[in-house]
Amino acid sequence: MSEPKALNKNVRVFTTHSAEETIQVGRELAKFLDPPEVLLLRGDLGAGKTTLVKGIAAALGAAEPEEVTSPTFTLIHEYAGRSVEHANLGETILLYHLDLYRIENQRQLDTLGMEELMTPQSVLLIEWGEKFPSVTARCDGEIVIETLHGDERRITLVLQSPKAAS
Ligand code: ADP
Ligand code: MG
Repeated sequence: MSEPKALNKNVRVFTTHSAEETIQVGRELAKFLDPPEVLLLRGDLGAGKTTLVKGIAAALGAAEPEEVTSPTFTLIHEYAGRSVEHANLGETILLYHLDLYRIENQRQLDTLGMEELMTPQSVLLIEWGEKFPSVTARCDGEIVIETLHGDERRITLVLQSPKAAS
């Protein structure tokens, strides 16, 4: 990493070899999601994005893995749960999983009402958000899933300017 900016970034890398392991990584990543948070969720079709969200939603007590499905057609899925790190405080987290693949332009994006989802309790995980500069400008980082050999996946969480640990 030659970019000086990289020094300010909070990067975590995981390698998994099955969907179950990726769900487990999702559970782990949930600990780092500190609302309000807006993250790109990047990866090819079948990389494991929905699988990862299953683990995140499960860790927040927001949904059973089988209840988490792709928002390809519905565009937005909402899962209400509780902070993993601050569970004793009963802090609510609203997990939103969005897929902007079918959104063609800024005008369509505006009608989606994303702004209204960005509450202080919200974590937004956005697929295809990199299509829109207005979205990337609002992002606090990204989760990238890369397919390596076979079932092997590399999952990278990058958080810009990490918030102070509490
Ligand atoms: P995406 O949402 O990125 O399109 P999905 O999570 O819907 O991907 O699907 C991932 C598919 O890949 C599932 O069928 C899953 O069983 C399979 N798979 C195989 N190995 C892994 C792995 N290491 N992590 C996640 N999914 C895996
Ligand atoms: Mg998916």
